[in-house]
Amino acid sequence: METNSFFGDVCKYFDKAALHTDHPKGLLEQIKMCNSVYHFKFPLRLDDDKYEVIDAWRVEHSHHMLPVKGGIRFSSMVCEDEVMALAALMTYKCAVVNVPFGGGKGGVKVDPWKYKTNELERITRRYAVELIKKNFIGPGIDVPAPDYGTGPREMAWIADTYMTFNSTNTGQSDSLACITGKPISQQGIGGRKEATGRGVFFAIREACNVADDMKTLGLKPGLDGKTVIVQGLGNVGYHAAKFIEEGGGIIVGLIEREGGIYDPKGLDVEEVFKHRKDTGSLLNYKNAKEFKNGSEVLEQECDILVPAALENQIHKGNAANIKAKIIGEGANGPITAEAEEILLKKGKLILADMYANAGGVTVSYFEWLKNLSHVAFGRMEKRYDEFSHGNFVDVIEDLTKSKLTPQQKNMVIKGASEVDLVNSGLEDTMITAYHQIRETWKSNPKIDSFRTAAFVVAIEKIGESYMNLGIFP
Ligand code: GLU
Repeated sequence: METNSFFGDVCKYFDKAALHTDHPKGLLEQIKMCNSVYHFKFPLRLDDDKYEVIDAWRVEHSHHMLPVKGGIRFSSMVCEDEVMALAALMTYKCAVVNVPFGGGKGGVKVDPWKYKTNELERITRRYAVELIKKNFIGPGIDVPAPDYGTGPREMAWIADTYMTFNSTNTGQSDSLACITGKPISQQGIGGRKEATGRGVFFAIREACNVADDMKTLGLKPGLDGKTVIVQGLGNVGYHAAKFIEEGGGIIVGLIEREGGIYDPKGLDVEEVFKHRKDTGSLLNYKNAKEFKNGSEVLEQECDILVPAALENQIHKGNAANIKAKIIGEGANGPITAEAEEILLKKGKLILADMYANAGGVTVSYFEWLKNLSHVAFGRMEKRYDEFSHGNFVDVIEDLTKSKLTPQQKNMVIKGASEVDLVNSGLEDTMITAYHQIRETWKSNPKIDSFRTAAFVVAIEKIGESYMNLGIFP
C-alpha cells in the first residue's frame, strides 16, 4: 500500500538517514517533529457580499535556529499534512545549503485563480493579521516567502500589513525583513524571482560535471547536448528550463496542467512560453507531438527529468516507466517514497528537492540580510573596485607597453552589482552543497542515495546545533 502522507514520506526518509548518524534517539525525534502547528480559520467577504470560511496554516517545524523560514502556498489542495511536510523539508533544505534558519511553511486552502485581486488581497492581509496575533511572523521569528500560488504581490501585502498592525514593530526599521520575495521597489532583491530555477540549473549542471557519476549512468560528462523534460512552466519550471537551455541542455518536453508537448529535436522555451500566454495552452505548438494527459510526457525518452510542479507526480504507478537517468526535483516531494525505491533500483540519480530547489531560500537569505543591513549588496564597493581595477590595468598597460581594447578593459574593471553578487553567491552555495552531499554519499557505501546523503548532512548539522544549545548535553 502506498502511504498517502507526504509528512510520512519525509519522516521515512529521515529515519533511513538517521541510521547513519550517532545522535541519541530523543534528539532525532526532536529534529523530526513539527514544533508548532497552527491551524486557523477566518471569514472572507466576497465581492458579491457572500461569505466563505477560509482554512489556513502556519507550521514551524524546527526552532533550532531562528527565524524559521519558508513560503506560503495558496492552493485548494493545501492540508495540514502537506504544510507539515513542506515545513520539515524547509528545515533540512536550509541546513544542507548552510542558510542559518529553521524551517516553516504556510498554507491557505484557496484556489488563487478563482478569486478577484481585491478578494485575494483581503485573504492575504487577514492571513498576515492572524500570524501577527499569534507571533507567527517577524524578522527574528518566522519569515515567510512565496510558494505555489503566491508571488511578490502577496509578499508586498504581507509586509505592508505587518508594518501597519504589528504594534511592537511599527516604525521599527527592521520590519521589512519580516518577509522575503518582495518586489524590488519594496526592498526585495535582484535575482530572487529566478533563484529557485537558477539553483535547479546549477544543481543539474554540477551533477553532470562529475565524470565518474556520468560514467556510472552511461552518460557523457557535461550538460551540453543532454535532453531534458520539464514539468511545470510556473516560476520554478520556466526559469529552470530557460537556464538549462542556455547552459547547453536540449529541452525536448514541457508539461503543464492542460497537457504536454514533446519534440526530440528540441523546443524553444521562450517561444513555447509565449505560445501558452497567447493561446492559453501548451497544445497546438508547431510540430511537437502533443499529449492531452501531460503526465505521459514524464515517461518519454530523455536524459534528465525536472518535475517542477507539485508533489506526488512520480508514484508507484508510473515510476517504472521513467526513462530519464537523472531527476532534478524542482518541486517539493514530486516523487513518492515508494516510487523512489523503484527508481533507485533502476540506478537513477535523484537530485533531492531539499538540495535541488534550495536556490529560492538561499536568495531569500540574501534578501533578509539586505533588509537587516539596510544597504544593497555592492553599493559600498562597486565604484571603488572599478577605480582600483582601472589603476591596475593602467599599471599593466604601462609596464607591457600594450593596450587592452575598450571591451576588454570594461570586462576587467567592472565592479559587481547586487544581482551579480546574488547570482554568484547562489552558484557557490549550490556547488559547495552538492559536493558536501556527494562526499557523504560516496564515503559510506551503506548510504543508498543522494537523498539519504542529503538528509544525513542535514541531520548532522541540526543535531550539532541542538547540542550546542545545550538542550541535549
Ligand atoms: N517556497 C520556497 C521553497 O519551498 C522558498 C522559501 C523561502 O524563500 O523562504 O523553498
